[in-house]
Amino acid sequence: MTRLPPRPDLDWKDDGTPVAQAFDDVYFSLSDGLEETRSVFLKACGLPERWKNQKHFTVAELGFGTGLNMVALIFSWLQSKKQPDAWLHFVSCEKYLMEAADSNKVLVRWPELKFISDRLIETWPDRASGLQRIIFPDWNVTFSLYVGDVQDWLETCDFTANAWFLDGFAPARNDDMWGAQIYQRMARKSAEGCLIGTYTVAGAVRRGLAEAGFQVSKREGFGRKRERLEAIWSDPVPAAQVTDPYLTRPCPANPSKVVIIGAGIAGACVARRFAEAGSEVLVLDEGKGPASGASGNPFGLVMPRLDAADTPQARFLIQSYLFARRYYARACPTETHDVTVQQIAQNDKEAERFEKLLADPPLDEGLLADGGTDEEVALLHKGALLCEPHGIVQSLLDHPAITCRFEETIGSLEALKDRSDENTIFVITSGWRSKAVFRALSLPLTGKAGQVDWAEGLDQTAIAEARASGTYALKIRDNILFGATFESISDDEEPGISTEARTENLEALERLAPDWKKHLEVTMLKSRASVRGTTPDRMPVAGVVFDDEKFRTAISPLAYGRPVAAELPYDHRAYILAGLGARGFTFAPLLAELVWAQATGAPLPLARPELEQISPARFSVRAVRRGG
Ligand code: SAM
Repeated sequence: MTRLPPRPDLDWKDDGTPVAQAFDDVYFSLSDGLEETRSVFLKACGLPERWKNQKHFTVAELGFGTGLNMVALIFSWLQSKKQPDAWLHFVSCEKYLMEAADSNKVLVRWPELKFISDRLIETWPDRASGLQRIIFPDWNVTFSLYVGDVQDWLETCDFTANAWFLDGFAPARNDDMWGAQIYQRMARKSAEGCLIGTYTVAGAVRRGLAEAGFQVSKREGFGRKRERLEAIWSDPVPAAQVTDPYLTRPCPANPSKVVIIGAGIAGACVARRFAEAGSEVLVLDEGKGPASGASGNPFGLVMPRLDAADTPQARFLIQSYLFARRYYARACPTETHDVTVQQIAQNDKEAERFEKLLADPPLDEGLLADGGTDEEVALLHKGALLCEPHGIVQSLLDHPAITCRFEETIGSLEALKDRSDENTIFVITSGWRSKAVFRALSLPLTGKAGQVDWAEGLDQTAIAEARASGTYALKIRDNILFGATFESISDDEEPGISTEARTENLEALERLAPDWKKHLEVTMLKSRASVRGTTPDRMPVAGVVFDDEKFRTAISPLAYGRPVAAELPYDHRAYILAGLGARGFTFAPLLAELVWAQATGAPLPLARPELEQISPARFSVRAVRRGG
C-alpha cells in the first residue's frame, strides 16, 4: 500500500452531481443535496436546538465526501442561538479524499453557503494519511478529518459524539461503512441522548444499531426515498475512567483561567488557544520579554522531519507540520513567508531514507519533490515557512484575554497552585527549564545549546530562500542566517556565544551554500546562543503531569502484562508542553491544540498511536514494561 491516500475516481452526472465509480453511487441526492442534508442529518439530530445549552457539541460523520454536510452544519451553527463561548466540533473520516477543486465544483451550487464553502476550500485537508485538525476560531468551530478507513478512525480517535451522520453510500455497496462492528464502536463514542441521522432504512443497519443499544425509528424519507432512520443513544454513560497509562484523555478541568509558565512559542500558542476559546490567560516568564529563550532567534524554519516508514511517530511529525502551516497562515501571515527548502542528504544513510521517501512519498507533489542533482540526493520541501520568531510570539500574545508578566521568579508549580482557585489550570512551557518547575515529574529533559550566526544589511533582496543538511541556512530581505550548533549543556550552565561555534557554523555554511558565504565578511556577523530542551527519543512532550514515583507504583502491573487500575495518580489541573528541541515552531501549534482539547474535553487532534509518542507518561510506561 502506498503512503499517499487514494483519490476517488469520479464521474459527473449532467446536473453536476458527483458519482464515486468504486461504489457506483452519488455523493448526495440528485433532487437537492442541501435540503437532504438539512432533513436527513440536521433535523434528525435535533439541530440546531440541541446545542443551545452546550459548551461543546460534537457531530461525527461517517463519510466526508464533498464537505456539503459540514458546510450546511456550520451554516446552521452560525445562524442559531447558543452559549457565548460554545464550540462546535465536526469530526469525520474519509478514505478517498477528493481534490478541493472537485468539492468546489459541487459546493458553488449553493451561493448562500459560499462564505463557508470558500473557507473550506481554502483550508482543504492535505493529502496525507491520518488525522488532520483545522480550526475556524472566529466561528468557534473545529474540524477534524481522519484520512483513512472508518474502522481505524473509530478505533484510534478520541471524541464523544452528540450526533452522528451516517453517510457512507448505499449499505449494500459498502459493507466497511455499515458492518455490525461499526455500531458497537459508535456506541462507545456516544454521549447520553446522542442522536443519529441517516437516509437508509436497510434491515442490517436497523438491527446493527439496535444490537449496539440505540433505539431506532423510521421516519418519512426525503426526495425519492420513502423512509429514513433516526436513532437515539440512551444507555447511561459510565463515569469517565482513565485506565490508559499514557493519560491521553485526562479528566477535563474546563478552566476559566489559565496560568502559563513560559512566553516562548509553546507558551504563546497555548495562551492564544485558550484566549480564543474564552479563558482568561496569564503568562509568566523570567525573561525580560517574550521569546527570550530558544524561541528568540531572528529567523527560523518550519519544515517537516520525514521518516521513511508510516509509523505513529512519522504521522505526528507530518501532522504537526501540516497544522503549523495552516496555523501561521491564519494567525501570523505577516511574520511567516513561504519558502522552498532544499534538504540535502548528510550521508549515505540519509540518502537511502530520502530515496525511500521519494519512491513512496507521504505528501503530495505540492509539498514534497525531488530536489536532487547529479551529485547529491535531496528533498524539496515546497510548503515550508521561513518565520520571524519574535514577531510570531508577540502577535500570538497580543490578545485582549492574555496578560503577560515578565521578570517573574516562577518557583514551583506547587507554590503557584497554592495561590490559585480550582478553576485555574497551569501549563508549563518553559523549555529546558520546565523540569525545574515540577521536579516530581522527573522528566528526562536535557538541554542542548545552539548558536546561530547572521549578517544584516547585505546587498541582496531575497524574498525567502533556504537550504538544510543537518544545519540550515536561510536568506530573507537583506539577511543571511545560518546554524545551529547542538551541544550538551548541564542544568546549571548558561548558554554563551563562542568563536568555536561560529567557526563550526561557517564551515557548515561553506558546505551548504558556498555561493552565499562568499558575500559575508566575518566583521558583519552577529551571534545568538540559546538552549533547546530535548528528550531521549527526540519527540516532544505534551499532556498532564504526575508525580513519577507514585505513578510508576500505580502502573506497576504493566511489568507483568496486566492492565492498570482505573484511577491513576495525575494532576488534571497541570499540563506540560516541552522537549520541542529544534522544532519548536513546527510542533507548538498542534501541541497547544492538544493541551486545550485535553483540558476542555474537546475531541483530541491526534490519534491514540501518535499521542502515545508524545505523552509525558511514555518514559515511565516504557521503563515499567522493561521491568525498571
Ligand atoms: N457526507 C458527504 C458529503 O457531504 O458530501 C457525502 C458522503 S458519500 C455518500 C460517502 C463517503 O464515504 C465517500 O466520500 C466515500 O469515499 C467515503 N467512504 C467510503 N468507504 C469508506 C471507508 N471504508 N472509510 C472511510 N470513508 C469511506
